[in-house]
Amino acid sequence: MSARILVVDDVPANVKLLEARLSAEYFDVMTASNGAEALAICRRAECDIILLDVMMPDIDGFEVCRRLKTDPVTHHIPVVMVTALDSPADRIRGLEAGADDFLTKPVSDVVLIARVRSLTRLKMMTDELRMRAITSLEIGVQAPERSAVADTGKGGRILLVDDRQSSYERLATLLAAEHTVDVEPNPTEALFHAAEGNYDLLIVSLDLNNFDGLRLCSQARSLERTRHVPILAIADADSGTRLLRGLEIGVNDYLLRPVDKNELLARARTQIRRRRYTDHLRDNVQNSIEMAITDALTGLHNRRYMESHLATLAEQASTRGKPLALMILDIDYFKSINDNYGHDAGDDVLREFAVRVRKSIRGIDLACRYGGEEFVIVMPETDLHVAGMVAERLRRSIAGEPFSVHKGTKRIEVTISIGLTTLEQKGEAVADVLKRADTALYRAKHDGRNRVVSQAA
Ligand code: GH3
Ligand code: MG
Ligand code: MG
Repeated sequence: MSARILVVDDVPANVKLLEARLSAEYFDVMTASNGAEALAICRRAECDIILLDVMMPDIDGFEVCRRLKTDPVTHHIPVVMVTALDSPADRIRGLEAGADDFLTKPVSDVVLIARVRSLTRLKMMTDELRMRAITSLEIGVQAPERSAVADTGKGGRILLVDDRQSSYERLATLLAAEHTVDVEPNPTEALFHAAEGNYDLLIVSLDLNNFDGLRLCSQARSLERTRHVPILAIADADSGTRLLRGLEIGVNDYLLRPVDKNELLARARTQIRRRRYTDHLRDNVQNSIEMAITDALTGLHNRRYMESHLATLAEQASTRGKPLALMILDIDYFKSINDNYGHDAGDDVLREFAVRVRKSIRGIDLACRYGGEEFVIVMPETDLHVAGMVAERLRRSIAGEPFSVHKGTKRIEVTISIGLTTLEQKGEAVADVLKRADTALYRAKHDGRNRVVSQAA
């Protein structure tokens, strides 16, 4: 996964330094030496993340950030302010301008790469949701960008997990100025509490007695109900490596003790705004256009949506020079399931099949019911080798566990055949990719079913 990073600094040596470090980690690096140039690049949607120097002649970094964040075309691009001084006042100014993160010069390599990686993950998810929202807009639904820009990030629901009374009493009082706060002093209850409470933000102390706060963060990341809730970690000043680990497992931001009041409020607002923004997008897709784009039986996307969205994904993959994998899955001898157990049993199998598919793929993968008992899965930024492993895992997840039908009174063995290919040539027509996958599927059937056949472009 290589993101395009824009480095903005008026001092050429600083640009060179960051450029070299990021390129060594296989990020694509672009550079600009002033604010106007940076704004133009962002408006052309050419970068995924921006590392922005604060002190620049003409337009300074705060102002560039403010303009990016108030423009609906660019406000979703994560901005990392690179400051020479680690002064709380600068941080507050930056956060108020909408900055997503800070790096202090001289920038440590580990922190730089960890931060850029974590923001890249978030950006990919947000991009995907934005694209889906645009696809939805074409079907006639209003995009939520406008309200997201106007959101102040106040009035959030926060769960604070901290078992030190003096600490949580102070933090809760500070936060209560702008939000509703629940305190959970018992870490073993925290995950349950978080999953039940519909929170906009989790604030987790990493210095809990007899409990690893990072474990809690990692559990919250893997649980369906809390996966999208931002996490702000609070740690003692000497917890450097643990914080990095936290960022890697998906903690969104952190504060060091002693916690500064304004910084706490600003960071909470930033995370809540971001959360609401992605929620808006998700709701937009899930509610407004559900009927038009979803297959009613399985809850997966329908063919119409897949065809429209696949064209967008293919175009994006071509312009970015990234692979895109596509597989067609077909249930083996499905007709005989209907014949032997009835049409309702067939429907049960299709529903359970969709559940297992969802468990095997990532959030940015697109799964749809292509027709009767045929399904298509599109995987952005995935090459043939990795897609082959996903396909094989999927095949096993179907063949390895019989399907319950008739309210669990009967269990049926089910297998699938999968045809797999990738889009590799620039500008290749989507229809040709589908055709190639279909040919591979035909071979899988012909060679005996219950197998994966890959066909390189
Ligand atoms: P193969 O291994 O070659 O794929 O054989 P098959 O029997 O799976 O393939 P075929 O295409 O001959 O049969 C597909 C069957 O799927 C026929 C159709 O009645 C059934 N089917 C299509 N849509 C639905 C549905 O929504 N519910 C149920 N229960 N059956 C469906
Ligand atoms: Mg079939
Ligand atoms: Mg078929």
